[in-house]
Amino acid sequence: MTQFTQPDQHALDTLRLIGPAPENWVPPRDGIDHNVVIVGGGQTGAAFAFALRRAGIGQVSVIDAAADEGQAGVWLNRARMNKLRTPKSLAGPEAGLPGLNFQAWYEARFGAESYAEIDRIPRTRWAEYLAWYRHFLEIPIRYGTRLTRIEPAGEHFRLHLEVRDGTAVRTVVETARKIVLGNGVAGNGGPNIPAVLKSLPPALLAHTSEAIDFAALRGKSVAVIGGAASAFDAAGTALEAGAGQVHLFARRERIASVPVTRTRAYPGAYDNYFHLPDAIRWSQARRFRHAGSTPPVDAVERVTRFPNFHLHLGAPWTHASVRDAQQVETHVAGESFAFDFVIAGTGYVVDLALRPELAQIAGHIRLWRDQYVPAASDSDDALGAHPYLGAALEYLEKVEGDAPYLKNIHVYNPAAFVSFGLPVGDVPSMKRDIAAVVQRISRDLFLADLDAHEARIHGDIAADFDESVYAQSVWQRDRADVA
Ligand SMILES: Cc1cc2nc3c(=O)[nH]c(=O)nc-3n(C[C@H](O)[C@H](O)[C@H](O)COP(=O)(O)OP(=O)(O)OC[C@H]3O[C@@H](n4cnc5c(N)ncnc54)[C@H](O)[C@@H]3O)c2cc1C
Repeated sequence: MTQFTQPDQHALDTLRLIGPAPENWVPPRDGIDHNVVIVGGGQTGAAFAFALRRAGIGQVSVIDAAADEGQAGVWLNRARMNKLRTPKSLAGPEAGLPGLNFQAWYEARFGAESYAEIDRIPRTRWAEYLAWYRHFLEIPIRYGTRLTRIEPAGEHFRLHLEVRDGTAVRTVVETARKIVLGNGVAGNGGPNIPAVLKSLPPALLAHTSEAIDFAALRGKSVAVIGGAASAFDAAGTALEAGAGQVHLFARRERIASVPVTRTRAYPGAYDNYFHLPDAIRWSQARRFRHAGSTPPVDAVERVTRFPNFHLHLGAPWTHASVRDAQQVETHVAGESFAFDFVIAGTGYVVDLALRPELAQIAGHIRLWRDQYVPAASDSDDALGAHPYLGAALEYLEKVEGDAPYLKNIHVYNPAAFVSFGLPVGDVPSMKRDIAAVVQRISRDLFLADLDAHEARIHGDIAADFDESVYAQSVWQRDRADVA
């Protein structure tokens, strides 16, 4: 997939000019396997690994439950759009180094003219770029390794891991001082399956987060539930795969088309969002929920050009039953429909209780509903379930002093949305939030070993030169008179 034969001179020059990565400065500790474990080997995991390396923090391990790199992340599996939804000009995982960014990579292969011509980044090109990034920077990712439980153990964590090797699965426990959760859109919850769909069997229903056999939908009638980008992407993929009829059902009377978060896409608001008062952050999150998540216009146009695509507005499903074990029946707005397959493009929920790896600690984590009580007219249970995070995206304690280890878990996934105003993990978050987390990890690891560092910075050090270098010029009155 990656075109390694192409010139990467700009990238090579970048690495040459920034010089070698610093030595690991974190003193080893008995019984500690990793200073940092990054859970998730998608774009986030790779970008953190590089940023931590450049910060001189060693003993970092990136794990991913996926069997291999093609199945990790979303870009070659669950993402079904033709182009990224985000602008091509955003900073990505390059840590501020232009020679490692998407544009440099793309122009080295396809030319500056071609880059100027693309309006947004083609999805598969982004996946190729990320694969190149991982390989070029030699970032090791341990695939087939799933975190199943975080067990606090004083100053560190015991991480329970399920490691797959072919069909064999073994369980191991490794220790780590810091955790970064780069575990994706469902990383603090799961797919949102509306109650009305919950009783449908998997043969008739899939959520967009799952692998879907679109070829099997050829000639079939398909219902897609949801009005945001993933629903339109799934409908488009089904239509292009030859589905007979595709009906998309949206609750809203109009498809959301007002990108309200764009009002804060300027440096002041972007950089300082965390420091806004809770009431403002809450009302911003509410405003977004009210306006809805907007699909890009090309995702809508991708489906509307098909005569066998039908859009139902103001059409929530309230009923669904299985007919002859083969079809799903429903009644919407007084009409009856039968479908061969239903796709839920209904997004994700934040609910810490859904994550097995958080089971032991979830009850101690401060949520927005613990912190902020909005007016009744402004209440929102879904937003209230989001963790109320600290400045480095770390969990905070529900009860102060109860679970001090929580500050060592950094949440780099969309559960940080209410606290940070962005779906964290998406490209727009990378520039601001990776740097903030790495800076905090560095600070915490440094201060945790203050004695060792104090000894090191007070330590003896050899002189760069001796007195002979300047001895002949030292002022001496008697010699000056002679001169
Ligand atoms: C359909 C779709 C379209 C999107 N489009 C865009 C877009 O256009 N622009 C944009 O900026 N963002 C978009 N996003 C958001 C997108 O998820 C992020 O940009 C990007 O994938 C985030 O990368 P990540 O590495 O944080 O998470 P992911 O790419 O989701 O990777 C997370 C990884 O964590 C692993 N993992 C999860 N749990 C565990 C565990 N317990 N143990 C070990 N490993 C685990 C998973 O296997 C996965 O590989 C889209 C998301 C989806 C679902």
